Amino acid sequence: MSAVFRKGGDVTFLVDELKAVFDPRGGYWQPGGRFMPSIIAELGHIVEKHLIEIGLLKGPDLSTDQKDFIAQKRADFESRDRQKDAFAKPAFPEGAQLCGKCSTTAAVMLDGCMTCLNCGYSKCG
Ligand SMILES: [Zn+2]
Repeated sequence: MSAVFRKGGDVTFLVDELKAVFDPRGGYWQPGGRFMPSIIAELGHIVEKHLIEIGLLKGPDLSTDQKDFIAQKRADFESRDRQKDAFAKPAFPEGAQLCGKCSTTAAVMLDGCMTCLNCGYSKCG
């Protein structure tokens, strides 16, 4: 690599060459969710980032519309997850049993008695 840089000329081809290297023993995931097929490929990404910073390569140019679209989709996805959480979240302690009176999974053993935390029904009356 350094020989290519010293020689000068167009060095940007190095990025694609490096990024295309696959480790036959398998790649790895970087924090943030990007897959690296090899450590050589990671060097390619680092060189690419540098070349973009110094203006030799163009970065991934997303239009404002595309950026807005992605932001909108991300917001949709995240709010969908929140709604799901609200439904999935158990309102009563884990291990609670179904109450025969109010049909809510809210009956727990209290002082030797099954007591419903939803309607207050207790087996011991
Ligand atoms: Zn109940």
